[in-house]
Amino acid sequence: MKEDIGMIITIDGPAGAGKSTVSKVLAERLNYGYLDTGALYRAVAYKIIQNNVSVSDEAAMSDLLKHMKINVYMTGNAMKVFMDSEDVTDLIRTEEIGLMASKISAGIPVRHALLAIQREAGKRGSIIAEGRDMGTVVFPHADVKFFLDANARVRTNRRYNELIAKGIDADLRAIENDLNMRDKQDRERTVAPLKIPEGAIIIDSSNLKVLDVVENMMNFVNKKNESLKTQ
Ligand code: C5P
Repeated sequence: MKEDIGMIITIDGPAGAGKSTVSKVLAERLNYGYLDTGALYRAVAYKIIQNNVSVSDEAAMSDLLKHMKINVYMTGNAMKVFMDSEDVTDLIRTEEIGLMASKISAGIPVRHALLAIQREAGKRGSIIAEGRDMGTVVFPHADVKFFLDANARVRTNRRYNELIAKGIDADLRAIENDLNMRDKQDRERTVAPLKIPEGAIIIDSSNLKVLDVVENMMNFVNKKNESLKTQ
């Protein structure tokens, strides 16, 4: 019987559904690495804004993607992102960067540039990977796939509270608009749109506490673990 089964667990879903919070707790419980793929798109968005690059300027975008150096460090239940050796982990959490990330993530060159980094992280085994296309594109053979959803009001309130807790100025109405715009873009884009992956377990977290969601997920993860051990 195998002892330690390294699994890839994916969590996809719209902004504000609670993916990050739940992923971190789950990663800690399982002693897995935590891969926050939204942070990678945000890091690219950060660089675009810093360098004043126009997203429609294909040559400038291609140059930026070719020369950027992204490093990801999965430490316990946290992840650090470095863009060109600058630690951008905390700098990328603004709504402005979230919107830019959503805009650029619809483009094939950006998705292509980030795919290898994500798959490489997956090779380290035992990870919780969260994003929009984890179970569909990046890790289609993941061991357990979740789709975490919540209604728009709950998602808006959560994002608002998150920003306030971090000391970032926030406006409820503006956040609602941003989330709606971002979700529309993410769901309607032609490349790797946000959708429920085949075989995913759908969890609506609107009326659930974080730990309830985690318990629910743990049941599925444990079952999978047991079935892999006896194979
Ligand atoms: O999850 P987070 O809000 O940090 O993601 C920022 C944006 O990055 C999303 O709105 C989405 O457009 C994009 N993204 C993506 N694919 C992923 C993760 C994030 O397109 N796997």
